[in-house]
Amino acid sequence: MIEIDGAAGEGGGQILRTALTLAMITGQAIRMVAIRARRPKPGLLRQHLTAVEAATAICRARVEGAAVGSQTLEFHPGPIRGGDYRFAIGTAGSCTLVLQTVLPALWFADGPSTFAVSGGTHNPAAPPADFLRRSWLPVVAAMGVDMELELLRHGFYPAGGGEMLARVRPASPLTPWQAPARAPAGKPRAVAVVAGVPVDVARRELARLQQHLGDMETEVRVLSSREGPGNALLVEIPLSAHGEVFTGLGERGLPAETVADRLARTVRGFLDSDASVGEHLADQLLLPLALAGGVGFTAPVLSSHARTNMAVIQRFLPVEFAVEEREGVVKVGVVRHALTVAGP
Ligand code: AMP
Repeated sequence: MIEIDGAAGEGGGQILRTALTLAMITGQAIRMVAIRARRPKPGLLRQHLTAVEAATAICRARVEGAAVGSQTLEFHPGPIRGGDYRFAIGTAGSCTLVLQTVLPALWFADGPSTFAVSGGTHNPAAPPADFLRRSWLPVVAAMGVDMELELLRHGFYPAGGGEMLARVRPASPLTPWQAPARAPAGKPRAVAVVAGVPVDVARRELARLQQHLGDMETEVRVLSSREGPGNALLVEIPLSAHGEVFTGLGERGLPAETVADRLARTVRGFLDSDASVGEHLADQLLLPLALAGGVGFTAPVLSSHARTNMAVIQRFLPVEFAVEEREGVVKVGVVRHALTVAGP
């Protein structure tokens, strides 16, 4: 049984998600303590519990400690089974983070799957649905993953009520992936989404964004107020292998211009580097790359999420991460060693 300390490094939900995913894929049982110990509300929230429940259903695991607030968990997985799965987080907890927990396991299932999950789709401190579809999916598809992701309904904090659907066909073995050097593949694109929020907010955000970032394609997307209240401002930088998506979320009392100013600063930081992927995609590609047999990318910085994720992945897989800082970017290499199978 692999013991995982949830307080190590970043001390957040990603340690749990990565450990669950790799427990499912490698068949190793885990015991996790101090779950999300470095977060203001430690332990399993609805979103994490949904990920545990989904992982349990997919591989008929035996599990102890699966309750809201629990800081310890034991998870004994069985084989991964394809099928039709549907889960409701029941709060605005992030659908994308639940998907990122279970999808890599379904890549190695015994048959095709659908996986639907309802909750939040555009949350602070989580990848928005657009990021999963436009940034993460194209890269894992380049590794051989055969999957579609749909955003069926938007869900914003605190109301939730969004829904996403994944269709997955098993695709092993995956192939290693090296991020191509940065090469712009078209004009930046900005979308301002409003649901139950005046359309003027979206227009002001886009106008301000263009003052900072210059010429870009823009779109105002007005959703039914039933999907709100909510406001997301999304910028996509099209690159040769994927679109790098950056997100700002509107909040009550936060001027539209401030949402755009903050987002523009983040986008500018990426444009001024020549990194092949952004900070968030960097930490989210480590697990797929380790599964696919390695190779790498460059990122503007290596976050504590990325460092922590490397340490968790190494508990399960024979993989090494080489990190080298040079000329304002961090070069990350993933080297996968062959599994040594005990012979007769
Ligand atoms: P944790 O804080 O441990 O639950 O992990 C949060 C995850 O969400 C990490 O993989 C972050 O890279 C990711 N994340 C946070 N904000 C964004 C964002 N704006 N776009 C994409 N991914 C994000």
